Amino acid sequence: MNDGKTVLGLGGGVGGLVAANRLRKSLPARHRVVLVDREPQHVFQPSLLWLAVGDRALGDIQRPLEKLVRTGVDVRIGSVDRIDTATRVVRVTGQDFAGDAIIVALGADLAPEAIPGLAEAGHNLYTPPGANAFAGALRSFGQGRIVVLTATPAYKCPAAPYEAAMLIAAALRHRGTRDRVQLDLYAAEPGPMAVTGPTLSGQVRGAVESQGIGYHPDHQVTRVDATARRLTFANGATADFDLLLFVPPHRAPAVVRDAGMLAASGWVAADRHTFATSAAGVYAIGDVTGIPLAMGKPMPKAGIFAHAQAEVVADNIASLWAGREARRTFDGVGKCFVETGDGRAGFGAGNFYAEPTPQVAFHAPARRWHWQKLLFERLWLKRWL
Ligand SMILES: Cc1cc2nc3c(=O)[nH]c(=O)nc-3n(C[C@H](O)[C@H](O)[C@H](O)COP(=O)(O)OP(=O)(O)OC[C@H]3O[C@@H](n4cnc5c(N)ncnc54)[C@H](O)[C@@H]3O)c2cc1C
Repeated sequence: MNDGKTVLGLGGGVGGLVAANRLRKSLPARHRVVLVDREPQHVFQPSLLWLAVGDRALGDIQRPLEKLVRTGVDVRIGSVDRIDTATRVVRVTGQDFAGDAIIVALGADLAPEAIPGLAEAGHNLYTPPGANAFAGALRSFGQGRIVVLTATPAYKCPAAPYEAAMLIAAALRHRGTRDRVQLDLYAAEPGPMAVTGPTLSGQVRGAVESQGIGYHPDHQVTRVDATARRLTFANGATADFDLLLFVPPHRAPAVVRDAGMLAASGWVAADRHTFATSAAGVYAIGDVTGIPLAMGKPMPKAGIFAHAQAEVVADNIASLWAGREARRTFDGVGKCFVETGDGRAGFGAGNFYAEPTPQVAFHAPARRWHWQKLLFERLWLKRWL
């Protein structure tokens, strides 16, 4: 008798990729591991920053998801259009798949259209075509004003726009055009990486401002005029630009909303330690989840967390299917490198589940953190795909 079961991994980004790999290694061959993504290419998103300043080509930072097939994972390229959490049946481009367990790792959808004019006026840092097009525009940018903009206060990788601004400043310095370019960062949030506390936030702000980048927090953009190249903010201020790079608004994918999985936060509710949802056998990990912290703000969305959560969920499913207790839990610990340009990066690490506030320390920018980030990039694509 074949008592094989099926686990459906929805989303082949950080969380889905790690979970599928780990499950394939730990589950007996009679069990099936299916991984679904609508995109045939897995993109290593942290490298979008280097793509945006011309330090990477598109082909350097993505790999075909199909490569996972060699490990025994059943890869399906298609759109997840329906999730029935009660029956654990998922519709992928018209075909139904039944799972004994489902791991929802669909990430955050990007919604530049939520701000009138934004998509037409600027380049989206968070997509490969957007970052790549910005690199082209930057290459031929002689003089004028460049603006980096966060269109909402909460977005994945809270360091990314700050890193982008510092990498742009460094690129201009190397080209000898820095003194002819005014560089500003308009942020919807009150400060960089605010969840980590005022000390770290102040250190990152200091690093940005020390490079002559004008920093304008608490500026919520309401509309963008692509013809006049002007930003209008909720506080009445305006800002002109010649070249615009933006972090778009994020929202939960429509398919999880339609499945009734959203909490009041607008993101999927899951247990903060096991990432089980209220539906039996259904887990949600990574950016698609909204995990409230004791301080009142949500857990930041980051690959380091999606990765750790994927390991916890995969190990617990493997234990349960082997008749053992599910013992692994996620502890809220994370780290991140913050690129500051000129071959240097800062490094933040700590416990985001610490109460009453996350305890995160920041190590000053140094070459070794940049080298560790480079190594991480290289190992990531080699290890998983
Ligand atoms: C510029 C940038 C820099 C970053 N730097 C860092 C960093 O230094 N450190 C860090 O920890 N994090 C960083 N991040 C954040 C990190 O990449 C994300 O937090 C992480 O990828 C989240 O993993 P995930 O699995 O939840 O979602 P994702 O990795 O986004 O994967 C979601 C997947 O689901 C797929 N999908 C969505 N909807 C559907 C559907 N309906 N049907 C089929 N497939 C679907 C998508 O195509 C995607 O492949 C960065 C992000 C950006 C944009």
